[in-house]
Amino acid sequence: MGVGLRIARESYQITSVNRSEVLRYLGHSGQSLSAELDERIEAVTQRCLYMARPRATMASFAVEEIGPDAVVLTGCALRLTGHDITQHLASAHEVVLFAATLGADIDRELRRLSLTDALEQVIFDAVATALIEKTADAANAHVRAYAAEQGAFTSWRFSPGYGDLPLSVQPMLLASLDATRQLGITLTPSHLMVPTKSVTAIVGIHPTPQPGLESSCSICSLAEFCSIRTTGRTCRG
Ligand code: SF4
Repeated sequence: MGVGLRIARESYQITSVNRSEVLRYLGHSGQSLSAELDERIEAVTQRCLYMARPRATMASFAVEEIGPDAVVLTGCALRLTGHDITQHLASAHEVVLFAATLGADIDRELRRLSLTDALEQVIFDAVATALIEKTADAANAHVRAYAAEQGAFTSWRFSPGYGDLPLSVQPMLLASLDATRQLGITLTPSHLMVPTKSVTAIVGIHPTPQPGLESSCSICSLAEFCSIRTTGRTCRG
């Protein structure tokens, strides 16, 4: 059971994706685009935004113990193992887990395109990748606001498979969030998520500002979803 933050399911209205990010996923490196390709990317983007159901579930847990190679959370069977996550959360007193997804329709469309239009599939995949990252930003903004309410600070989000945190933590992470029931996320035998455009993340709540965060709101990827600035403060205190 989470201690302070528990959101069973939150939906996000996202009406755009970062175009330069889409182009980066497409391997574009500054060369000019034909008008035809430009229009196609725009049309695919609008279709992906229409079909996606960006949602997230999240819960916070108190840190019970940080050992040399594992973080233990109170009331949560998930053990975060590895040197990297242990270092990352070294000063955290609380941890927020979240899962986010675009839903099953995006995978269905990718499968359909794989049989009918290879170029469009590649573009759709790039747009959906940018959109799930933006959905994770929306969830992350919520976590940052939660930390700011306590006068605390977050670390950047860490996901299974990064560093030496194994993908094998995914079953317990999803179970801790009831993510299969709330969001329909399941795992393949190799711990990959279905729907494929899904993300899980771990965000530490710390008493002091953490390195690696944006130095200014003007370059912050969470800005569109940020509720802290409306209070006249920032997440940097
Ligand atoms: S927009 Fe500014 S206050 Fe809001 S999360 Fe980003 S850096 Fe923090």
